[in-house]
Amino acid sequence: MIDFEIHRNPQPVTATEREALLANPGFGRVFTDHMVTIRYAEGKGWYDARVEPRAPIPMDPATAVLHYAQEIFEGLKVYNRVDGKLGLFRADANARRFVDSAHRMAMAPLPEELFLGSIRHLVNVDREWVPSDGESSLYLRPFQYASEVFLGVRPSLEYLYVLIASPVGSYFSGGVKPVTLWVSTDFSRAAPGGTGAAKCGGNYAAGLIAQAQAIEQGCDQVVYLDAVHRRYIDELGGMNVFFVYADGSLATPELNGAILPGITRDSVITLAREEGRTVTERPVTIDEWRDGAASGEIVETFACGTAAVLTPIGRVRAAEGEFVIGDGGTGPVTSALRQSLVDIQYGRIADSHQWTSII
Ligand SMILES: *Cc1c(COP(=O)(O)O)cnc(C)c1O
Repeated sequence: MIDFEIHRNPQPVTATEREALLANPGFGRVFTDHMVTIRYAEGKGWYDARVEPRAPIPMDPATAVLHYAQEIFEGLKVYNRVDGKLGLFRADANARRFVDSAHRMAMAPLPEELFLGSIRHLVNVDREWVPSDGESSLYLRPFQYASEVFLGVRPSLEYLYVLIASPVGSYFSGGVKPVTLWVSTDFSRAAPGGTGAAKCGGNYAAGLIAQAQAIEQGCDQVVYLDAVHRRYIDELGGMNVFFVYADGSLATPELNGAILPGITRDSVITLAREEGRTVTERPVTIDEWRDGAASGEIVETFACGTAAVLTPIGRVRAAEGEFVIGDGGTGPVTSALRQSLVDIQYGRIADSHQWTSII
């Protein structure tokens, strides 16, 4: 394992300025004083791991990522726990998924211990940046891109791994609010054999136009149908989806290669089963969703991911019309699962799965 060099920022943000920034950070606008970089070169491996002052990265215009989008990322949070310690939630799963994404994008995988080491080192120097009120946290954004200066079309021989951190406030400042989804029929997020299961920037670039349509239609987010039959629910642009049935059971689309294997999704499956609920991973069609909502067989639907934890889905709008799930509000199963997850993350209840690690 290579060592990290620590270069402290000689001009960190003052404590007064930091407090002001932490009071209302929003999402992804405020950043800490430091970042981590690690380099890779074919034949040499990963080298030059360092914590350094956060700064722009000079880039040659022929850098491969700018042309062919060979890039992956992750997203996870540091929680200021009720015991005063800083905790990570299932960071080992993010490290593993980062490796899986790298393989799909033909990139050199970053060893998991380097991924986890980069997080520990960054959080150690930027500890004061972890906000402590409500459901705020320090959002970590690890990413890796093709840094070779070359326009040929083949996997890059050089990569840069970077970790930056951004304090974020409660996602829902005025309490958890149900969202309205737009069913995209013009666009697909991912296709069989495509990159849907990899966390790569390209998936997001391809979804921006659908998201813009959703906003035009007065909706908050897009829900995508499968690319082949245009009937099965895949997921949202950046969140997985669950259906709650009147008998208390849950269903979520099975990981079909086009769906991102969410860590929140996996945690929800585990927690719901522990509550004695049946959780099935299977294909769910848009017709089952619409008809189930109408008949009362489907009583709740929620989306889940690291950023917003669990988000209730109140309404679904499509070209042919709109339907409401339950009373359009936040259902009790969604609320309870959300609370369990957040309570584990902030150390308010026992973590029987050892999902949390203290920094
Ligand atoms: C990151 C992501 C998710 C959620 O994954 P978590 O590990 O739960 O944060 C879901 N869908 C997509 C497309 C994503 O990129």
